[in-house]
Amino acid sequence: MQRYDLIIIGAGPAGLFAAISAASCNLSVLVLEKKENPGKKLLISGSGKCNFTHTGTPEELILHYYEGNRFVKPAIYAFDNKSLIEYFRKMGIPSVVTENGKVFPATFRASDVLNALVENTKRRGAKIRERCPVIGVKKSAEGFVVKTTTGIYESRTLLIATGGKSYPWTGSEGDGYLIAETLGHDIVNPEPALTPLFVEGFPLRNLSGLSFKSARVSLLRDGKKVIERTEPLLITHKGFSGPAILHLSRDAQRGDEILVNFLDVASEELENCLLDQKHKLVRRRLREFGYPLSLIDKAMQICKVLPKRKLSELPKAKRKCLIKTLTAYRERINKAGFQLAMVTKGGISLREVNPKTMESRKIRGLYFAGEVLNIDGETGGYNIQFAFSSAYLAVKAICHHLYSL
Ligand SMILES: Cc1cc2nc3c(=O)[nH]c(=O)nc-3n(C[C@H](O)[C@H](O)[C@H](O)COP(=O)(O)OP(=O)(O)OC[C@H]3O[C@@H](n4cnc5c(N)ncnc54)[C@H](O)[C@@H]3O)c2cc1C
Repeated sequence: MQRYDLIIIGAGPAGLFAAISAASCNLSVLVLEKKENPGKKLLISGSGKCNFTHTGTPEELILHYYEGNRFVKPAIYAFDNKSLIEYFRKMGIPSVVTENGKVFPATFRASDVLNALVENTKRRGAKIRERCPVIGVKKSAEGFVVKTTTGIYESRTLLIATGGKSYPWTGSEGDGYLIAETLGHDIVNPEPALTPLFVEGFPLRNLSGLSFKSARVSLLRDGKKVIERTEPLLITHKGFSGPAILHLSRDAQRGDEILVNFLDVASEELENCLLDQKHKLVRRRLREFGYPLSLIDKAMQICKVLPKRKLSELPKAKRKCLIKTLTAYRERINKAGFQLAMVTKGGISLREVNPKTMESRKIRGLYFAGEVLNIDGETGGYNIQFAFSSAYLAVKAICHHLYSL
């Protein structure tokens, strides 16, 4: 049986980039992929357009990985957004930057990115075996014995790049956690992150599609604020989404509530607006203030204010109700599950992985890259960037390890 220098479990962006880099370093590489095709999640990333990184300095990038920012630092500094953009350019994939700093392939086609990665993997001589789920790994004296549903393979080093648990139909079902656990690693409880939030019997469902450029959304637990974000917000037919919600969602728990200030204005400011120019219609004055008519109509319906009411005819209690609905709209929420989560919070415990090499601190020759680690980034290209940056460090260390033997 051939013993490979490196077996990579998972042909997502982390696994494919690692395969190309390791094969370029003259290592014999085998990529084992569970699904019938590699990179299923990459294909749907950024709504099929693949927002693969974000503009900014490395210092700025690392701020978008929550409490994982210290761990990601060596990887991001070693292979940053500029390196990734240049890497794709050399592969024939120029990129474009959108207004908000997101970086995409110029064609806005994730398939171009995936095809280039797969072609390069094969051209460099790395093998990809599809429909080949890994079901067990054992450490041997010479390296690793990897059991799949179709055969057994051996390698000197092993890279686990199986992704997290989100969008399980793409192949990321948490297998990497089980494999790492059997090798003695701790797993931080995986939870859905970057998910929409749902509201039972959602009163605003008719406003589905309405968005706000900068809403202030607070997550409340037992009435106390847990976290707050001021970012774009989207109303959906089941609740809320958009960056403000996606970013809060990693901290949301069953029973939590959210408080939405749709235009991020002080309630006093809105009250002052409703107290002057009393001859005007309530509806018109709120429109002048900046609220969309559909939301005004909904708020007036909730507060039982008739459409033709003038400000002079608005009783104090109804004025207060309108202000509350527009600046402190409160709902109990449910978080969507892994089926709709873009990423997984949790994963391989970072305490047991060297951030400079991505090598296990428990088992020599075992490495991790990408979302399988307990790292999740914000929306905007940070998760794919980390998949590449961590794979880069892992392969650098693998080559060093094997050539120094
Ligand atoms: C809808 C959606 C949109 C997204 N958009 C963006 C975006 O625009 N920008 C961004 O930065 N991030 C985005 N993400 C997140 C990003 O796609 C992931 O963070 C990234 O793909 C992680 O890469 P990975 O290589 O670590 O894992 P994955 O891409 O999940 O790949 C893991 C691979 O391992 C394989 N595998 C799993 N278990 C086994 C096993 N036992 N044996 C063999 N193979 C196995 C899987 O089949 C899969 O192919 C999005 C995610 C989703 C779901």
